Amino acid sequence: MRCPFCKAQETKVIDSRLVADGDQVRRRRECLSCSERYTTYEIAELLMPKVVKQDGTRQPFDEEKLRAGIQRSLEKRPVSVEQVESCINRIKHSLRATGEREVSSMMVGEAVMKELRRLDQVAYVRFASVYRSFQDLNEFKAEIERLSSQPEESDS
Ligand SMILES: [Zn+2]
Repeated sequence: MRCPFCKAQETKVIDSRLVADGDQVRRRRECLSCSERYTTYEIAELLMPKVVKQDGTRQPFDEEKLRAGIQRSLEKRPVSVEQVESCINRIKHSLRATGEREVSSMMVGEAVMKELRRLDQVAYVRFASVYRSFQDLNEFKAEIERLSSQPEESDS
């Protein structure tokens, strides 16, 4: 880290503490050349991958859009805000865990469906019917039958 005053490279850390509930590290540094002191902040980089849409365009991961889509499927369902938030966190985690800089919108959709399926079957079918835009009613019915014939997936 170059000194902002004289641009020298050698600095020493004189104090280091966690701030912002432990999400940041604040460091007091002193330049070994000019002895000026300054502060730096470090924050862990947890970037979400970009989302590649089916037409090939890329857009930043949009958490609000994700939340809105999930909430729409959960309308009037007995699911708490906490459950929705932890669901969103697991989706974000699984996308980050791919280690990819870009993921397909399909992968995002699948991740959402996987979570909704655990959370609430009605919401899952609602989301899936919009997301997959089922070709016809038979396909939709087949999906519902597939769901009801499947044993509950365990969470472990
Ligand atoms: Zn300096």
